[in-house]
Amino acid sequence: MAQVKQYVNLPGATGVVGPTISFRVYANQVPNVHPGDRVDWWIEANPANMDLKYQSTAERTQLAHGPLPGVTSGTNHYFDNTLTLTQIGGDKYVVKASRDGQRANFKPSDEYETWRKLYYSVWWSHPESLAMFNGVEARWQDAFKRGFLELERKATQATLTPAYEARLDYRSLGRQFTGAGAHDWPFMNGGPGALMNLRNGGGNPAGATLSDKPLHMALLVVPDLYWTQLERMTFDPTTTVAGSTPTYNRIFPDPQLGGQWLWTAQASWSGAGATDVRGYFTYTVGWPTQINWDLRPLAGLTPYLAGAPGRNFRLDFAYIYRPPIGGFSWGNFSVAACTNMPENQVLQALTHEMGHAAGQAVQQEPLYNVGTGAALGTFETNPNWYNDPYGGSGPHCHINAILTPDPTTSSRQIYIWGGGAQMCPMFYMLNNDSDPDHFCAFCLPRIKRRDLRTPTGAAGTWNDFG
Ligand SMILES: [Zn+2]
Ligand SMILES: [Zn+2]
Repeated sequence: MAQVKQYVNLPGATGVVGPTISFRVYANQVPNVHPGDRVDWWIEANPANMDLKYQSTAERTQLAHGPLPGVTSGTNHYFDNTLTLTQIGGDKYVVKASRDGQRANFKPSDEYETWRKLYYSVWWSHPESLAMFNGVEARWQDAFKRGFLELERKATQATLTPAYEARLDYRSLGRQFTGAGAHDWPFMNGGPGALMNLRNGGGNPAGATLSDKPLHMALLVVPDLYWTQLERMTFDPTTTVAGSTPTYNRIFPDPQLGGQWLWTAQASWSGAGATDVRGYFTYTVGWPTQINWDLRPLAGLTPYLAGAPGRNFRLDFAYIYRPPIGGFSWGNFSVAACTNMPENQVLQALTHEMGHAAGQAVQQEPLYNVGTGAALGTFETNPNWYNDPYGGSGPHCHINAILTPDPTTSSRQIYIWGGGAQMCPMFYMLNNDSDPDHFCAFCLPRIKRRDLRTPTGAAGTWNDFG
């Protein structure tokens, strides 16, 4: 009996590709069977297969039919059946056929082991990044092989322009400010200074098109990366002509704006329209950083406020900052900062971002009746799942981490390593205390259970870029 790796998520219905396998047995291949007899079929599932409580009836491995008579064609007499395999990875099945009522004497099929495959292409912005990626690629692939997901590299190419520190805004500042339109991904629009030329959500139609969509990941490796964001603050009404406000964000003087760190700053009061006051702002770097303004020299404002009791004005500004990131995943695009970090952190970034692309980390999974496959209406909750208020952005895994006070999060707490066993690569932050290529005991089975026919990233669809 041969062992067959069957790639159940790939489209197709022949060979080792696709979830369906057609069987045909001839009368002389099944013990004691003759034309006119019925042949019985059944599935022998490996006892170590995934618990059926995670699968509905339709999702389970199944045969098209049970015992049936065969078909005579010329001098042949044969019996057909079709096996449809689960999308879960790592299950093993054998199909057996016997004369109906005589299961002790059977003809077994090969043993089918369920695998999934995704493709990726690598863009690199600096030779250091490519060398680092090549060095950790095998361990990165192995992390997913343990979840019966095979990653296959399709292409490798330099970015359109080289970059050591790459600015990877998903939304240009103008769009952030007005809130208009979808993300525009300026770094991948193929224009001047762009790193890539990728079709993006239907836009940029001149972009390169990845093969094998929607199963193809675009992976960008760079030595260092950042993105820029706007934070808008409004004081209305206010009488504070000279004041300050704290921020834990890292303020960014934007070279594309001549070093400006304020996108806009306006004071408005009765009798005066919105007046540009960017020149009256400074900031003092610290923890927190202080954003300061002094509008006392501004013509008209101070006399206006002093003119009558109860007078006030509106102050409205938006400043540019760069959040700390080590990588991110959006649909089938993923980026990891590489060469400026220790190798294990590079590996964690790659595993983590591909993990998001493969559906990590999940909070709840629906449960089914093991016998009937009917939905129970209840869910299994991942005890290590958590979200943005405890560090990072997006769902993550906190195994072997503890909460500690932190003023920068909305919960005023953040997860850090607890000092014991290593953490999962799906921890929110790159660190030296995670096992970079081993998903934890909660995340790894989830990779096996993920249906990867139409993979969905943490924050978008797999098919966005290509
Ligand atoms: Zn993440
Ligand atoms: Zn985990």
